[in-house]
Amino acid sequence: MLQPGELQMVEPKRPKPPKHWSDLTVEERKARVIEIGLPGFRADQFSRQWYGRLNDDTSTWTDVPAEMRDKVKAELFPDLMTSVRTLDCDNGTTVKQVWKLFDGALVESVLMRYTNRVTMCISSQAGCGMNCPFCATGQAGLMRNLSTAEIVEQVLDGARKLSRGEISGGEGRVSNIVFMGMGEPMANYKNVIGTIRRLTDPAPAGLGMSARGITVSTVGLVPRIYDLAKEGIPVTLAVSLHAPDDELRDTLVPINTRFKVQEVLDASWHYAEVTGRRISIEYAMIKDINDQAFRAKLLAERLQGQLVHVNLIPLNPTPGSKWTASRPEDEREFVRILESYGVPVTVRDTRGREIDGACGQLAATVN
Ligand code: SAH
Repeated sequence: MLQPGELQMVEPKRPKPPKHWSDLTVEERKARVIEIGLPGFRADQFSRQWYGRLNDDTSTWTDVPAEMRDKVKAELFPDLMTSVRTLDCDNGTTVKQVWKLFDGALVESVLMRYTNRVTMCISSQAGCGMNCPFCATGQAGLMRNLSTAEIVEQVLDGARKLSRGEISGGEGRVSNIVFMGMGEPMANYKNVIGTIRRLTDPAPAGLGMSARGITVSTVGLVPRIYDLAKEGIPVTLAVSLHAPDDELRDTLVPINTRFKVQEVLDASWHYAEVTGRRISIEYAMIKDINDQAFRAKLLAERLQGQLVHVNLIPLNPTPGSKWTASRPEDEREFVRILESYGVPVTVRDTRGREIDGACGQLAATVN
């Protein structure tokens, strides 16, 4: 059985990213401001600039005495990441950003603008330790967990660009967040929760986003699903199932050897019951591997009657992969079977594919 903290212990010891404003709760910010010799009321002012006005240039904070600004920058708002590449497609409405962190680690985030919403797909770890054989991130293994501020900063970058009108389509706001970039968010639980709090805390404490617009996607770390249900933040839970039977899932999502399909689903239904939120089941459609009619039936039987929605994702083959996406007719039949059992299902679009920004393509190599 999994011991508490065991999943975090696989992270190798290395220097920590600089402590940043976004790592701190409102109380901790005030204490930190006082600790560096400034009056406590400044904390609120800094947060207004940072989250309210989305102004990350401390030298222009005119409500802060000029001689104070350098110290504020160095002590409270150190640079966390530099952009090493920006790629866009779909006429500039899909933008992938490759970031280099303080220790050279590379992570990616993707902004996707639709007619009525802007979704950001963000990373929670540099690399990933879950080792799913069809996923590009999984191939390189885990480098480290991202700090809360490193995760929040990916969102803030998108929010700033939108507010400055730098994204095609004019001024806008980030409305949705999916933890579907690099990493397994539930294996970096504490910092992911910190991020969700920063994103949902009302301004000026945070960005004031709706928890309903946030989706945490997981391979199914069962104890963490129960923990998430206790947090009292009704984010959407997405579960990367990919197979309805343990025999196949053991190979596609190796953590299944610890947490079986039934345990993952029981935890998911518990989450749905506590939060009232529909569970999203992710299912990458892999030709002749998991897309047979008998698996569609088995999946439908296991999900039928639950507060659930199935997201079929056409496989994005990773370089050198022996697998490809399902045939259109098999995909259609899979959808038909699920629908015949009354299980809601949609097929995910493959936005960002040509910039390696689609599901499972984030590998963060800079060539
Ligand atoms: N670790 C989290 C987030 C991963 S990325 C998780 O596993 O849920 C988000 C989704 O993309 C997951 O469902 C993941 O299984 C899926 N995915 C990974 N590689 C893919 C690929 N090559 N093609 C299609 N989907 C993929």
